[in-house]
Amino acid sequence: MITTIFLCLMFTSCGKKKKSDSFEAMSTYCSVQIYGGSTKNISQAKAKIFEIENLVSTTKTDSEIFRINSNPEAKNKVNELTYRLVDYSKRMAYETEGALNPALYPVTSAWGFTTQKYTVPSQEKIDELKNCIDFTKIQLTETASDSGKDYFIQLDKNMKLDLGAVGKGFAGDEVLKLLSQKGIKSALIDFGGNVQALGTKPDGSAWRVGIRSSWSDSPVAVLEIKNQAVITSGGSERFFEADDGKRYIHIFDADTCRPVENNIASLTIVCDSGAYGDSLSTAMFVMGTEKAIKYQQARKDFEMIIITEDREIFYTAGLENKIRLLEQFSETQIIR
Ligand code: ADP
Ligand code: MG
Repeated sequence: MITTIFLCLMFTSCGKKKKSDSFEAMSTYCSVQIYGGSTKNISQAKAKIFEIENLVSTTKTDSEIFRINSNPEAKNKVNELTYRLVDYSKRMAYETEGALNPALYPVTSAWGFTTQKYTVPSQEKIDELKNCIDFTKIQLTETASDSGKDYFIQLDKNMKLDLGAVGKGFAGDEVLKLLSQKGIKSALIDFGGNVQALGTKPDGSAWRVGIRSSWSDSPVAVLEIKNQAVITSGGSERFFEADDGKRYIHIFDADTCRPVENNIASLTIVCDSGAYGDSLSTAMFVMGTEKAIKYQQARKDFEMIIITEDREIFYTAGLENKIRLLEQFSETQIIR
């Protein structure tokens, strides 16, 4: 969601002109800006985003994921990109012990998040859902073929995929890879708050990315990044309020099949890959502050910022010289 924004210069000291475009894709606002290169490169980047959206959207009736979800028990032949995204999501599901679960579509749809017809399912329905979300049952098969390789995805009965937690970061990686192959060394993309940078600004300096909170429209912190992804998950942009007066957000705990209820307002991951950052932003949000901190301390291959509803901020030591707080937080803690 749009919980981060980027701030950057229009023109640069070495005279490479900015070219940019913004549009709606993957159910969000997207923007692509490049320095050097041509407007054709922008069109190519845009085409790549639409290509991925058309493959993995759960709502477009001609997407590959829609086809799989309509006939889960079939051995569905898929494009390599779809295969790689599902494969990666399944690996990250194992890695995060199911905090990330790419098979959550039965849950997200039962709560109405796929149609915006929000509802709180009965406990009976929720108990049924628990039998339909076993990501270990996602079968991925590659076979050699005349054209190289064929890729297949098969699920169990009643299973359906939702790649919403990883898709935008994965698409960002593909776009930056493509731009890099076209010789571009400096680019910044923003997919609804997933900011991904290729290289540095053309003058060699870092990109500045604003981190937004749930309580303010202006950024509460600014981060300097080079060649990295800054990916945020938050509950403040996609939620509904039910008759019971409670607010239900779009991030789910697979153990309960209910929206996550914790004190996290937003959780940001800073790392080298969009797919990794996007998987982790959702998974760490699900885990909650304490477990997320332990997970980060055990791995250390990503940085993290947690902002809580009580206006506390926790960030990992690797960001110490890169983050500038613009707000008085009730507590600031550096995670070491
Ligand atoms: P956003 O898409 O708003 O940037 P996320 O990256 O956190 O935020 O992805 C949230 C989306 O992922 C939800 O809208 C839903 O489709 C799906 N989802 C929700 N909970 C989970 C989960 N625990 N594991 C995997 N996907 C999830
Ligand atoms: Mg995510």
